[in-house]
Amino acid sequence: MLNVPPQAFPAPSSQQRVAAGGRAKVPLKPGRSLMDWIRLTKSGKDFTGLKGRLIEVTEDELAKHNKKEDCWICIRGFVYNVTPYMEYHPGGEDELMKAAGADGTDLFDQVHRWVNYESMLKECLVGRMAVKPIAAPKGMLPEKKVLGASAKDLTPSYDWFQTDSLITIVIYTKQKDMNAELVIVDCQDKRLRGEIIVDDNSYLVELDLDHAVQEDLAVNIAEKVGKVEIILKKKDNIHWKMLGQPLESHSTFIKCMDRGLFYRKCKLVSKTEVTHDTKLFCLMLPKSTHLRVPIGHHVYLKQIIAGTEVVKPYTPVLPFLSLDFKEPSRHDGIHIYLMIKIYSCGLFTQALDHLHIGDYISVSNPEGSFKKSQVQTSEDLFLLAAGTGFTPMVKLLNFALTEVRCLRTVKLIFFNKTEDDILWRNQLEQLALADERFEVQFILSQPTKDWVGKQGKISSSLLSEFVKRSRKESKVLICICGPTPFTEQGVQYLKVLGYYQEEIHTFTA
Ligand code: FAD
Ligand code: NAP
Repeated sequence: MLNVPPQAFPAPSSQQRVAAGGRAKVPLKPGRSLMDWIRLTKSGKDFTGLKGRLIEVTEDELAKHNKKEDCWICIRGFVYNVTPYMEYHPGGEDELMKAAGADGTDLFDQVHRWVNYESMLKECLVGRMAVKPIAAPKGMLPEKKVLGASAKDLTPSYDWFQTDSLITIVIYTKQKDMNAELVIVDCQDKRLRGEIIVDDNSYLVELDLDHAVQEDLAVNIAEKVGKVEIILKKKDNIHWKMLGQPLESHSTFIKCMDRGLFYRKCKLVSKTEVTHDTKLFCLMLPKSTHLRVPIGHHVYLKQIIAGTEVVKPYTPVLPFLSLDFKEPSRHDGIHIYLMIKIYSCGLFTQALDHLHIGDYISVSNPEGSFKKSQVQTSEDLFLLAAGTGFTPMVKLLNFALTEVRCLRTVKLIFFNKTEDDILWRNQLEQLALADERFEVQFILSQPTKDWVGKQGKISSSLLSEFVKRSRKESKVLICICGPTPFTEQGVQYLKVLGYYQEEIHTFTA
């Protein structure tokens, strides 16, 4: 008998996630892109030398395969021969070799939990471990082990009641400042999934409902007392004897990081040009979903490309920038706007660009570490963005200018290659005219000779020129987002200039 997670694992919940801390990609040789890998896996080649058989692998056997030319790695109890994949690994061969002949689950989770290795490496599957794997599967630990015994008192609970036409599920979160961003509800067919975020933990109500319900649902939140109501409309006005059958993760209270991502299909309702290579995609959530993406958090989009599931993160923006735009009053909660650069050789963005209006795409729950309170306690806010690294700044900027009174200065320093690459330049300039606290500085790395503005790349001298406290002791928040090396350099320069780590927030994956 194999002591490994059975069928349910790897589960749909093991969907790809991004780990904390940016990491540099290693330049790959030509012909070694993800698309090239996908093509190779479709070639019918025998990647394991086992002619499609799966074997039981002992720890001793696994340990023998620890060289580049013969490298096996165990992830969540499954063993893969990663030698054929070495040259295609964006993180480089050395990263993969760190787990050669061993259990790489923890390393994998630290670096890129969101990558769907089950799909990417399916042709490299050697078999299952014959012994208990070192790392336990995600989301399967009993509640006490994950959060500790004292957590029991904090565990939310739920109850339900019905009228002739409605089913109301009441979740007692035991959390004072509940808000709409902390409640994610989906009802697909008869399957109800209600997730409540309490600090870094996630409570789940997951049921196969007793009877069918109508498509639209409502969520009421009593913020002060932390009570959440999910109101479903019965399809037939009959009396329900029970709410439904609990599903696998029902009533669990675990770390958010251990909860698998959940996807729902969203409809593409519009696609508008922002610049020559960047578009604003508007996606519509199903009526049976309640989801709000917090400021600076990202979602994952999932597409099947050439038979392989590919997932990439994107940070929702607003439909436009204006001081009249106040979330949540004017935000309908139904649409998600994404500003996405289409790379001419990009695997995911090319597929995205080929979607038609009315097509569907899978969108995950949000993830991210940014907290509004970081802005609410600041006097000076500096936003350093490069290219589409502007996306997390959009909601943040709107929030800062419309809701945070204590801010004295808000400055966006926006790095781009050329003038044509500047996203929403007009809107930003209008905003600067409308609010005297806001200033925008465009810096171009490859300007034409007509450019009269600033030129250069992120550097200590540029930052010392633009990032300055308005008062000697003023509380500062500096947010940075762009290509990983840009962000890393930015942090280094800021530290040299005397800013503390606590004053800097990086939007990374
Ligand atoms: P790939 O096939 O991976 O790469 C093909 C080529 O495209 C590369 O060789 C390179 O020339 C270029 N390229 C690809 N990725 C990058 C990159 N990251 N930096 C520079 N050049 C690159 N992108 C957006 O447009 N809007 C967003 O809101 C957004 N939010 C993000 C949020 C997070 C947390 C992270 C980590 C990334 C975000 N990205 C965003 C980037 C996005 O996830 C993809 O990396 C990007 O869309 C490229 O995917 P691709 O498959 O088309 O390109
Ligand atoms: P880009 O157009 O290639 O570059 C924008 C500006 O940044 C240019 O001036 C460019 O200068 C500069 N730059 C690029 N790489 C640099 C480096 N290594 N060091 C210093 N400056 C550098 O940018 P893009 O294609 O839009 O890419 C945006 C990046 O932001 C992507 O990597 C994306 O993954 C990331 N992003 C992250 C998040 C997030 O984590 N939340 C959200 C959105 C986007 P050059 O002329 O020298 O290239």
